[in-house]
Amino acid sequence: MKNINIGIDLGTTNSAIAKYENGKVTVYKNPVGFKDTIPSVVSFRKGRIQIGDKAREHFLSNSENVFASFKRKMGSDETYFIKDLDRQIAPLELSSMVLKELINFTQNENPKSAVITIPASFDTIQTNATKKAGYEAGFAEVVLLQEPIAACLAYSNFQNLDISSEKKWLVYDFGGGTFDVALVKIDERELKVIDHKGNNFLGGVDLDTLFVEKIICPKMEAQSSENNLWNKMISGEDAIYKKLYFELLFKAEEAKKELSLKEKTNIEIEFDELDLSLDLELSKVEFEAIVASKFEESFQLTQKLIQENNLKFSEIERIILVGGTTYIPYIRQELEKRSQTLVDSSIDPTTAVVLGASFYAGSKPSEYVASEKEMVVEQETLSVELIFEPHSKDKEELIVAILPTDFNGFYRITRSDGGFDTGLLAANKKIAEFVPLLEKTTNIFSLFLFDQQQKQVYQHTSIQITNGLYNISGQPLPNDICLEVDEESGKTFMERIFKKNDILPLKKTIYKTCSKNILKNSDDKLIINIVEGNAGSMIGSNLTIGYIEICGKDFHQDLLKGMDVELNFKISESRDLSITVYISSLDLEIKEVFNPHERTISLSKLTEDIKVVLDEVSEEIYLNEEDENYEYLAKLKRIKDHLAVLYNESLEIVNDKSTDKKYQIDEMKRLTIQEYDDLVRHKHVLNELSEYHYSKEVFQTYAEQANPRQMEEYEKIIKNEVEFLQSNNKYLIRKKTKELDNLIDSVYLKQESRFIDYFYYYRFKDEDEFTNRDKFLKLVELGEKALENHSMVELKSICSQFWELLKVKPKLKDDFNSFDGNLGLK
Ligand code: ADP
Ligand code: MG
Repeated sequence: MKNINIGIDLGTTNSAIAKYENGKVTVYKNPVGFKDTIPSVVSFRKGRIQIGDKAREHFLSNSENVFASFKRKMGSDETYFIKDLDRQIAPLELSSMVLKELINFTQNENPKSAVITIPASFDTIQTNATKKAGYEAGFAEVVLLQEPIAACLAYSNFQNLDISSEKKWLVYDFGGGTFDVALVKIDERELKVIDHKGNNFLGGVDLDTLFVEKIICPKMEAQSSENNLWNKMISGEDAIYKKLYFELLFKAEEAKKELSLKEKTNIEIEFDELDLSLDLELSKVEFEAIVASKFEESFQLTQKLIQENNLKFSEIERIILVGGTTYIPYIRQELEKRSQTLVDSSIDPTTAVVLGASFYAGSKPSEYVASEKEMVVEQETLSVELIFEPHSKDKEELIVAILPTDFNGFYRITRSDGGFDTGLLAANKKIAEFVPLLEKTTNIFSLFLFDQQQKQVYQHTSIQITNGLYNISGQPLPNDICLEVDEESGKTFMERIFKKNDILPLKKTIYKTCSKNILKNSDDKLIINIVEGNAGSMIGSNLTIGYIEICGKDFHQDLLKGMDVELNFKISESRDLSITVYISSLDLEIKEVFNPHERTISLSKLTEDIKVVLDEVSEEIYLNEEDENYEYLAKLKRIKDHLAVLYNESLEIVNDKSTDKKYQIDEMKRLTIQEYDDLVRHKHVLNELSEYHYSKEVFQTYAEQANPRQMEEYEKIIKNEVEFLQSNNKYLIRKKTKELDNLIDSVYLKQESRFIDYFYYYRFKDEDEFTNRDKFLKLVELGEKALENHSMVELKSICSQFWELLKVKPKLKDDFNSFDGNLGLK
């Protein structure tokens, strides 16, 4: 067994590859210019593909065939058109080209396994797309690591910090195209991302653009006869101005970097097409005015992150700087000034992530190598108990093995790199051996046992002891993962299975009840839809990551309402989702693993989703038509029109197998539903809150009559009141209201006096509603008497006679018995 050792930062703007070896990490140099990173840029020119610096230079002359910032589009089905090749290319493919180029830097090492970093905000699909890009680049094993964790690993491992108590760090990552800030908890040996925030459209490139617009253009205009330069350049109408634009952006970026070191710099513009020959002086002070506004945006997000986690800057031990943009002195100073917190920039911010990734790779045993060599099957015929400390700060560790009492033979312990071997030693009952550890890596030891004839009778080849390195207590989920279930109203809602920021890997078993009958051999289906998103929002605004349809055709027996369905969910560290569905009454088990790297969409489900929301919006309009809230109404109507168009489009494309219209509709659907959701959520939550408070008041009026068990139940319902009332999740609040209502019912039903209410209910009904008028009048008379005598027993009997006499019996309390769910699960 060997460790992975290779770490890669696949960045939006720049990428890098590094290697762990014997406690050290080294970045492989880009042969061009001998730099640590390459631009994540790919160009196609005259049948030639170039990646990195050369590609970036082509931006100036051939911008149509040059692609950058494609990381932002990972996992989407958006493609780019390559004019030169007359074909489309996906972001995944472009990323895989950058990865291949990085592999080239390793010369002939031809690594088969790597740790690749991803932003903390990547959802399941973006994550899987990155993994797939890794496989397409030729890796046989790809392990993903979140960027802020990687950065922390670099800092903690380089600085040999002695962290004895728990600390909180902020990772402030201002890159080329994105800004991310993460809150990380770190203690003696573990790192954990607690929460994060970011803006996918805030980065160094925004500074370059502003620099050109606000400073460079005006200066050029002042020194030449050009005017309205900026508008001419961005309109893209004139190829000459477009070319000038790319050239200026390039120069602005260079000047920006110079100004991180000096007070002043110059740029020379030689542009024959417009007869321009200029020399502009640019100062740091001018540039800082631009930086200030963008810094402000990043700081707002940072503050928000701290506040939402109920923290203050004083509780943050240090802020770690990551990303090329943090080279700008203004950002460092201002961050320090405003946060009054130690700003740590001791590691190059453009390589911190890749260094951390390779530290991690150095502690991560590779499963690929193991399988390649047809890994010797562990021979564990004897029962041996192994005792050792898997994490150590020392140079040696003790491995203890308790052997079967009758064992009498030899043992041997080896270290996988060949640097340690005990040779054959006599053993009985117990082995205790101090083994030497390589620093800052995971050491892998093997234990072999032999009988008296020196025939091997036992082997265990994966005793792992990590020295010095920080361990990662898993990586957090960036969003809630939910199961779509039926609700009593006939709609569906998202029940949370895993919570945002839960640590991977995760697993959970839940039990659901079947909400409709699915007969054997029928076309009816039970639908299991797993989505990623915010548990409080509407289903359609979220992303499906796993979908199973179980059809009546597969049943040997009918599946009936009320039967149990067991669902088992697992998400691995690299975000594969596996679902096992077990229906015990049918003895049916279905297991599927999902690792979607692109959004696939079931058309029938898409149409259904749109229809459901369309109905809901129509109802909302109907309910509000009388109100004078015209603005609200207008917005609702606009959303409705939009949904109606989408609905028709989705019906029309049933036979469309070639275009990607389906994805576009789905995206529009998600955005429109999100818009609707935001619009009504607040209002709905307020409604649910008032219903809840009403039910609570009602209960309190009955509280005296409740028995201790019912009071206990009540306490249970309101236990986390503050939390769920603030959850902004109308379904959750509604669920609590329902529980209260049921409780009220059960208290009420125990009251004899309720028959008084029942009696009046029947008494004031229309005579025609009963089958026998005379008997009805007789019952009224008897009832009055019973009331006078306070005879509840009598009254109860009278009420039941009324019930018998009713022509049409009212439906009993609405529950799932009276309706069928859409999905079949509740
Ligand atoms: P990403 O993580 O987005 O791939 P990086 O962390 O490598 O990107 O950051 C790239 C950005 O940093 C670019 O916008 C680049 O212009 C900017 N940058 C790099 N060096 C400097 C510097 N010395 N001063 C200011 N900005 C810099
Ligand atoms: Mg980065």
